[in-house]
Order: sequence, then structure tokens, then C-alpha cells
Amino acid sequence: MAGVEEGLKRLIAASGPITIAQFMTEALMHPKDGYYTTRTPFGAAGDFITAPEVSQMFGELLGLWAVDYWQRAGRPAPVHLVELGPGRGTLMADFLRAARTVPAFPEAADLHLVETSPNLKAAQEKSLAQSPLQPHWHEQLMDVPDGPMILIANEFFDCLPIRQFQFTDGGWHERRVGLDDTDNFVFVLAPGTPPTAPDISPAGGAILEISPAAISVTSAIAERIRAHGGAALIIDYGYDQSGFGDTFQAVKGHAYADPLKEPGQADLTAHVDFSLLARTAREAGTAVFGPAPQGAFLKTLGVETRARTLKEKADERQRQDIDTALHRLTDAKQMGTLFKVLAITQPDGPAPAGFEGTA
Ligand code: SAH
Repeated sequence: MAGVEEGLKRLIAASGPITIAQFMTEALMHPKDGYYTTRTPFGAAGDFITAPEVSQMFGELLGLWAVDYWQRAGRPAPVHLVELGPGRGTLMADFLRAARTVPAFPEAADLHLVETSPNLKAAQEKSLAQSPLQPHWHEQLMDVPDGPMILIANEFFDCLPIRQFQFTDGGWHERRVGLDDTDNFVFVLAPGTPPTAPDISPAGGAILEISPAAISVTSAIAERIRAHGGAALIIDYGYDQSGFGDTFQAVKGHAYADPLKEPGQADLTAHVDFSLLARTAREAGTAVFGPAPQGAFLKTLGVETRARTLKEKADERQRQDIDTALHRLTDAKQMGTLFKVLAITQPDGPAPAGFEGTA
């Protein structure tokens, strides 16, 4: 039995069922045996593939988006370029290559990467070795110095720990992780009410998911942007209307797996509640745009033109790869609709590109 699983079982045996948030935190972030601590999970050989790993076009377009916003916001300098959960560093390498077309931007910017996994930090260092900016690493956003910032977070919020509450027998209970008679992890209901009540009344059995960490990271981003200016772009899979439902999932080897099986060996995530993030940012005094579907957002930014340009210099096989990537990033049945993009900006600033018709 792996270290995480044994530790969690000991903890539950000693002190009773734990929250799903505790389970996720240990499984993903355990300093020695956590999923993100021990692995580089992306790509064909890993457990899943993310948009920047699908195509260089993704990071490039975000780089151009950022430079455009920065210019129209009056070119604040210095500006902190911040990425939350940069994975292998692929997005930022593509981003900076595109952003370099306006040399004043890299000159004004300093790069801050928020990453907890030493393994992925090493991968980021390698990907960014040729980059025009030297990265500074931080464990959390709070450690990034204050000032105007442009922040990017792709597939970061989905791995922030969630709690689940279930409405049964006329009241709320917290769904926790306990152990059955044969020492396997199982969901159990324990006394507990949600920290924020839903707007709509639940039917019997309804499950409410809340990520306290997602709320606190969003408030921290919005507070900074309101106080110092700038913009943030949050991209992830999720829903744009708060509601009920269980989206706690595990992915292993490009397939869904049982989230309570073998903690530390699979990626654990939940869908992101974009309406809650948007509300949190608005309440903190920032402007909010979207969420826009990823496909529409990338098309507005010119992903099809970028694909055509790349194809001009490509051989037949590469041309096919570019078409496949474009389809994957934008098609409604692929990442085009499930993935959404939310922008948080300074209240008196320009409108960010890509949200025409969605604000
Ligand atoms: N953005 C990348 C990677 C997404 S996976 C891409 O699109 O390919 C999630 C990333 O967030 C990983 O780098 C993981 O180590 C990091 N991460 C997850 N939770 C974190 C936390 N609480 N603090 C800092 N980094 C975190």
C-alpha cells in the first residue's frame, strides 16, 4: 500500500471520517507521495492532456491577449506576470515567445510561478530556460509581491479541494470519506451544513459541492486587481450556473477511475463553479467578463488564422496535427464548450479581448 493511502487510513481509523477536501489535499499534495509531488501527469504517456500540451497555439494566443490588455491598460511597469499551477511550463514558454513581439512587455514584466510540486518546478525551469524572463517560484499567491498583475490559471482551479454536502431526511449533511468493514474508503454522511447556502432549494439526495479554496484564491486575485490593477484569466472545465451534482472525479491513464481508489495514484478533480467565482470577484469590486466557452474565446482571438499560418510552413503530417489540435481545442464535443474562460479585471480598465457578446 502506498504512503498516502496508509496515512489516510490511519488518520480515519484514529479520528473518524475526513472531508473530501482533506482526502484530495493529501492525495494530490502529500509532500512525499502526493500525485503532483511524484509525477508529471500530462501528455500522451501521462494521465491526461491539457490545452497547452495539445498545441502551442493556446499559450501563444494567451500571450497576445495579455500584451493587448497590458497596452490598453496604459502599460503599467513593472507588471507581475503570474501563473498559477504552470504544469510543465509549456503554456508560459509559448506565451512569452508570442508576447515578445511587443518587446516593451517582457522589459516591464517579471515572472512569478505559483507551484507546490518540486517535480513540476523542475520541469518548468527546463521549459523556461531560454525564456526572456527568469521565473521566481512561490508556494502560494500570497507570496507574490504586490503590484499590477496579469494572471493566468489553466486547469488550476479544478484540482483545488472541494467539500460536498448532501440534502437527505429534510436536512444537510456533509459527505465525508470513512472506512468500511474491510478497510476500504467509502463515502459516509456526517452532521454538517454548507458554508454558503444555495439559492435554489434542494430535492432529496441533492449534492452541493463547494470549494472553499477556490473562493479564497479568487478573492485574493480580485483584491489585488482592485487595489493595484491588471487582469486575470481563469480557464477550466466547469459549469456557468451553480447547481447540484457530484463532479468529484479521478482520471488515470486517460480514463475515469474511482476517486476513492488508490489515492496518490490518480488525478482528483471537480468541475469549477464559474458563477461562484464570478460572484466572488464582483463582490470584491472587480469587473468580470464571461465565462465564455473556450472554443468561442479562442476563435475570437484568431486561433483559426494562427493555425493557417502554422500550416503554411508545415509538411503534410504536421498540417494534419495542426487541424486535429484546432478541433480538439475548439470543437463543442471536445474542449470547446465544457472548458470555459473567465476574466477578472480592474473595474475602471479596458474590456479584455475575447469576450465580445458575453459580458
Ligand atoms: N496549467 C498546467 C497544469 C495543470 S495541472 C497545464 O495547463 O498544463 C495543475 C497544476 O497546478 C500542477 O502544476 C499542480 O502541481 C498545480 N497545483 C495544484 N494545486 C496547487 C496549489 N494548491 N498550489 C499551487 N499549485 C498547485
